[in-house]
Amino acid sequence: MLNPSANKLGTETAFGVLARAGVLAAQGNDIINLGIGQPDFRTPEHIVEAGIRALLDGAHGYTPSMGLPALREAVATDIHQRYGNEPDVNNIQIVPGGKPILFTAMMLLGGPEHEILTPDPGFPIYQSAINYSGARSIPYGLIEKNGFAFDAEEVLSKITDRTSLVIVNSPANPTGGVTPRAELDKFVKGLEIFPHVTVLSDEIYDRLIFEGEPTSLMTYPSLQDKLIILNGWSKTYAMTGWRIGYGIWPKRLVDYADRLAVNFHSCVNAPSQHAAIAALQGDQSCVDEMLTAFRRRGALITKLLNQIEGVSCQQPGGAFYAFANIIDTPFSSHAFQEKLLEEYGVAGIAGTSFGSFGEGFIRLSCANSDEAIERAVSRIQKMLDDSA
Ligand code: PLP
Repeated sequence: MLNPSANKLGTETAFGVLARAGVLAAQGNDIINLGIGQPDFRTPEHIVEAGIRALLDGAHGYTPSMGLPALREAVATDIHQRYGNEPDVNNIQIVPGGKPILFTAMMLLGGPEHEILTPDPGFPIYQSAINYSGARSIPYGLIEKNGFAFDAEEVLSKITDRTSLVIVNSPANPTGGVTPRAELDKFVKGLEIFPHVTVLSDEIYDRLIFEGEPTSLMTYPSLQDKLIILNGWSKTYAMTGWRIGYGIWPKRLVDYADRLAVNFHSCVNAPSQHAAIAALQGDQSCVDEMLTAFRRRGALITKLLNQIEGVSCQQPGGAFYAFANIIDTPFSSHAFQEKLLEEYGVAGIAGTSFGSFGEGFIRLSCANSDEAIERAVSRIQKMLDDSA
């Protein structure tokens, strides 16, 4: 007999589209992949070398479940250098990618009777993990006219006695929206009257911000014992396949998070941890180069999409996604995604895969070459011309 919660698990459409794009490509179709959210760059060489060296040097065993001490120290130092405050190393947990932090947070703070506020459109695993935990998901809208930033007043107005967790994500997937510091200030101030609420700040794109400085919720002292940070190496250092990320937990939750990790995955594979140390301690120009490319491509795809009648697109503030408005085309988001892939060979993700507020939008990843972006947008133009 199946645990009934299993039926509450959702999925990430991007992986389904990736698989379908792979099948179509294997059949000889020319597919342009603007679907999955991963850098198209290779992991920088010095990081790969550190992973190889670790393997050759015999780093083949388990590591401490919370991660190698040297890596946790490197994370603390990196945060200190970038944000000025140094987290307690004991609260830093190394996990296989950013995702386990989400799931762990939902397992610890979800459950029946609890409500969790989550961005819509937002990373689909938020909703899936909330549902699986048995908690009620309360979406708050990230709307186009606000530049897809969240509205602190709206978020605060949805908090009740049952709210255990609020999830925030900036720069955001799928919109590329960046929430301005003033709005975060308002949010943090407003939270003071809700001491029972914990915040999960998904900052996985914090190095991929196109203008100005990123803001981490870690810089707000009043959140100290009620903040969970999710971050990692996947997007910043093009390391999605290495499966490594980290969380920073409030002291009261960290032992539970470790227990879940021990039950679930024991530890992250050792070579990835050594590679992650090299990433944080090595030359950071690789990050700047990737950021420059994503910024340029974000501007390019936005400019090209805005030339198509019936399509409009705001310039992303960070991450590597364009969230194009297709409301004035004849297609729903899902139909757009399907037709574009099956008939025109471009993988993109329907906005509705990220929540109901995503209807009328399609997410196109800018993690592909300028030339691929240009060809993809001309195929979108053709699809719309053909159906006019
Ligand atoms: N959070 C957001 C907003 C993401 O977009 C992603 C990946 O797409 C993750 C977390 C998970 O990252 P990882 O691949 O490191 O598990």
